[in-house]
Amino acid sequence: MSKHSCAAMVIRCIDFRIAPKNLSELLSEAGMCHDGDYDLVSVAGSGKDLLSENTTERDFILKQINISKKLHDIKTIYILMHDNCGAYAIPDAVEEHNIQVKDLKQVEQYLNSVLTDVEIKGFIVKGVPTGILSLESVY
Ligand SMILES: [Zn+2]
Repeated sequence: MSKHSCAAMVIRCIDFRIAPKNLSELLSEAGMCHDGDYDLVSVAGSGKDLLSENTTERDFILKQINISKKLHDIKTIYILMHDNCGAYAIPDAVEEHNIQVKDLKQVEQYLNSVLTDVEIKGFIVKGVPTGILSLESVY
């Protein structure tokens, strides 16, 4: 019987500068999840829409999470923000970082309030403007 579950879901920004192959390597190197062992959601600004006043935007991501939980029994959700993100459009890198950290913490709180049996982990992909990518753990 073929395996019909995976370890995690990754929610990332659509940004082409984070190439799927590079992201996969980063996640693998960090010991987070191996290639092919996660469901992937790409949405502009990553988890940003989970904090939207617009429930349609929020529900879109929640629906993907719930399907992933139900069908693939995921145990962890990785929310990956990134620097120089067009969905944030904040020119100052320090300010962008601070706002993304704050948002990631709010996303964690929100998801923990609506989901059970799943761990939320927040990261920022750094180095997107230079192409030398690294992962910063926020929680
Ligand atoms: Zn982005």
